[in-house]
Amino acid sequence: MNLLDKSYDVIVVGAGPAGTVAARFAAEQGVDVLVLEKDRDVGYPVRCAEAISKRNVVKFIEPNDKWIAAKINRFEFVAPNGNSVSMDLEDESGYVLERRIFDYELGLLASQAGAKILTRVYVNGLILEGNKVCGVKAEYRGKQYEIKSKVVIAADGVESRVGRWAGIKTHIDFREMESCFQVTAGNLENIDPKTLYFYLGSNYAPNGYFWVFPKGKNIANVGLGVSGDTGKKRSALSFLNDNLQKLYPAASILTQIAGGVPCALTLERISGDGILLAGDAARQVNPLTGGGIGSGMEGGSIAGRIAGEAVRKGDLSLLENYRDEWMKIRGKNHLIFDKLKDGVFNMRDEQFNAICEKMQKIPKNKRTLGKLFMTALAKQPKLLVEVAKVYMV
Ligand SMILES: Cc1cc2nc3c(=O)[nH]c(=O)nc-3n(C[C@H](O)[C@H](O)[C@H](O)COP(=O)(O)OP(=O)(O)OC[C@H]3O[C@@H](n4cnc5c(N)ncnc54)[C@H](O)[C@@H]3O)c2cc1C
Repeated sequence: MNLLDKSYDVIVVGAGPAGTVAARFAAEQGVDVLVLEKDRDVGYPVRCAEAISKRNVVKFIEPNDKWIAAKINRFEFVAPNGNSVSMDLEDESGYVLERRIFDYELGLLASQAGAKILTRVYVNGLILEGNKVCGVKAEYRGKQYEIKSKVVIAADGVESRVGRWAGIKTHIDFREMESCFQVTAGNLENIDPKTLYFYLGSNYAPNGYFWVFPKGKNIANVGLGVSGDTGKKRSALSFLNDNLQKLYPAASILTQIAGGVPCALTLERISGDGILLAGDAARQVNPLTGGGIGSGMEGGSIAGRIAGEAVRKGDLSLLENYRDEWMKIRGKNHLIFDKLKDGVFNMRDEQFNAICEKMQKIPKNKRTLGKLFMTALAKQPKLLVEVAKVYMV
């Protein structure tokens, strides 16, 4: 049977973490779900540095060594003058994933919950009745289809167009779009496979950071993001080349990727008549770190659950609850991270150097992320209150 020849309760566009988790949570409500993915494989290509906290993983999937490249127990922050401060974390506080397998496993979980998934389907329009979304238009193997549904979940990533087709304002200021370039490199010396390295300052990555996230011994995702503003003047790739030359001249480059990360507030409207937006498409990425795997799964889980409930109860007006639910579960911290981002990313190199020096004076076992932000933002009392809201010091 051709999966595209029938109608569904819920259609999810995009099989990234937001889409497949949305599909799973909707299917668990006993409704018919179809996920459409334009690429050939769920999970590939990977455009990500693959770091995530354990807390964000276990909420949605049992950790499994087959998609964990590294288990993290330490952060190291490097200041512009080359001094660094490290912070010990609990064992296995976070992971560097093999997203190719991780995303695929999330897809499997969705299908085990009853969702249907089809790859190589390019969604190129919506079926609209007035403003009401009633399904999608899509191309599959050279043939055009119209597939009806009661709800569409747009989880089509950072370059999302589905929301816009439904009349939702998805525009993002270019200054808030971090422009990223990353390589997966081998032959890296002096990296600890359990440490995430963050380099700060104008020489490494202005208005962003340069990361080294290990994926085993001597291999890591090495990349950076700079604000759209900076990227216009000098490309992320050019910063990356300089940093690699300086820090890892012997590196072998195994993969190269470029991509944008929306480090912005969540869209004002993430639901409409018959439609919900989740993950990067809704701008649910943590604006401070650029981490969007965990927040995408969170947004997807709420969207999927609400879509499933709305269909099951025959009351599509329930879709309107989505933004409030997002704000309750994740959105408040998202607002705080956005304010902290402005505080941190506008710092001058001397400030980063001074913070690093102060942190070095704190005994290692007393260093926390909360203390780091408290030190960094000591002269910005309003932001200190915000820090206290998210980090228990
Ligand atoms: C360089 C870089 C490094 C990053 N590092 C990290 C990190 O270390 N940790 C972290 O948490 N986050 C990181 N992120 C962000 C993270 O990758 C995203 O936030 C996350 O993938 C968002 O998940 P998603 O499901 O919303 O979107 P995606 O994972 O982008 O999935 C969207 C899917 O929709 C499909 N699609 C799009 N349009 C259509 C269409 N018209 N029809 C059918 N299918 C469609 C796409 O093919 C894709 O598979 C990074 C991003 C970049 C660019």
